[in-house]
Amino acid sequence: MNTVLLLVDIDGTLLRVDRKVTRQVWSNAWEEVVGGSVPWERLDTAAGKTDFQILSQLLGSSKVAWEIRQQFFDALAKHGEYLIEPSAITLYTEALEFLRFARDYGMHLAVLSGNERRCGWHKLRAVELEGYFTTGFFGCDAVERLLIPARALQWAQQYLGRSRDHITAVVVGDTPNDVIAARVHGLRSIAVATGPYSYEKLLEFRPTECVRHLGEGAVSLRRIVTTSVMERRLIIAIDGPAGSGKTTTARLLAERLGYTYIDTGAMYRALTLAALEQQIPLTNDALAALAERVRIELRNEGGSQRTYLDGRDVTERIRQPDVTALVSQVSSYPSVRDAMVRIQQQLGQHGGIVMDGRDIGTAVFPDADVKVFMTADLDVRAQRRLAELHQSNPTLTFEQVKQQLQQRDMLDSTRQYNPLRKAEDALVVDTTALTIDEQVESILRFIRHRLMMSNSPTLSDARHN
Ligand code: C5P
Repeated sequence: MNTVLLLVDIDGTLLRVDRKVTRQVWSNAWEEVVGGSVPWERLDTAAGKTDFQILSQLLGSSKVAWEIRQQFFDALAKHGEYLIEPSAITLYTEALEFLRFARDYGMHLAVLSGNERRCGWHKLRAVELEGYFTTGFFGCDAVERLLIPARALQWAQQYLGRSRDHITAVVVGDTPNDVIAARVHGLRSIAVATGPYSYEKLLEFRPTECVRHLGEGAVSLRRIVTTSVMERRLIIAIDGPAGSGKTTTARLLAERLGYTYIDTGAMYRALTLAALEQQIPLTNDALAALAERVRIELRNEGGSQRTYLDGRDVTERIRQPDVTALVSQVSSYPSVRDAMVRIQQQLGQHGGIVMDGRDIGTAVFPDADVKVFMTADLDVRAQRRLAELHQSNPTLTFEQVKQQLQQRDMLDSTRQYNPLRKAEDALVVDTTALTIDEQVESILRFIRHRLMMSNSPTLSDARHN
């Protein structure tokens, strides 16, 4: 029997706080930390956002928001605890029934809210709901709401001592962002129309269950926990030329989402190494036979991906110049590509992956939920590569690296079969002047945007048994 974990939003779902009071709390904190009055005209909506996202939008910069977050959240907590009195809060009575039902059935309850932590607990305490929850995951802990469930799941595995497969987690919230955050993590969702979104609007985002108020939530919950339907997590494809920042970004993105990262370049490199070591002639047939014969594995060890060739760890070896010089030629053969693409499709079939390469969004997963194409100026890419390679090869010059990159780009993008190419529906991220965090953030924003467009055709098959 699965353990059921309910991740419940606060505002609009369990209760409503007088808007004037909330605005006053923000105004006081703003005046204290930023100075002046809050530029509310910059904010489209606060619903479904984390307090960090609201702060970023009001400031017009997530960098500045990050720098002042501690101070700002302290001020927010202080004024919130003082100004938000029980009389400013309307508790939804159906929500109370719903929480009782869940608790009586032995479900675990945790808060999942965009609120600042102390403000969130304060609101719950004010209406005597605090005791229903074992723990909480809040908007001050994550720059993006999409990331909060990853923390909740991590906690559940540790605290409840169950593997992910044995936890049925259900997000309960009143905004499309709640539904989307659930979908990204393969969780189920109950959308409730007691916030700013109507029942019909919420339905468009295809929550697992949609209710007009939480009085109907118990029936939905029963249905959810008794069906074995799993939501498939996303397939995120990241393509681009060498040195564009794919690998670092993809790895970080996967880590934050709790997804598996797959570096397909490492697979082509491992095969190239095998061809070099076994002195295989570079022909389509000989390489096809080699690809059949060798065993290439990507293993996750202590958070980092290692590449194995026939059981031998070749992670560092495949970055050596002899492999790099030959890899684009080896990977231009259709037989090689077919073999690798097959393996990659198998690795990603259940979703929950971030895969980087050259043809992921076009050939490996043309129906990927999210596609990103990363680029950067050649000089910047060469500089990055040089910095990476400098330790193992101190004599390498900038010009040499630049020339190699150019050569590889040319071969990769002009080959006949599955060349490096941007998929039509891919987000282009030019990383020339971006930091890694900004790259990850822009992709997270895009994921949310893609999933918000509920007519997205690739999501129609997002459920499977
Ligand atoms: O990403 P990385 O630089 O390690 O990739 C090495 C080479 O492998 C690329 O230059 C390209 O020739 C090949 N490759 C490919 N298709 C992929 C990934 C890598 O052809 N999906």
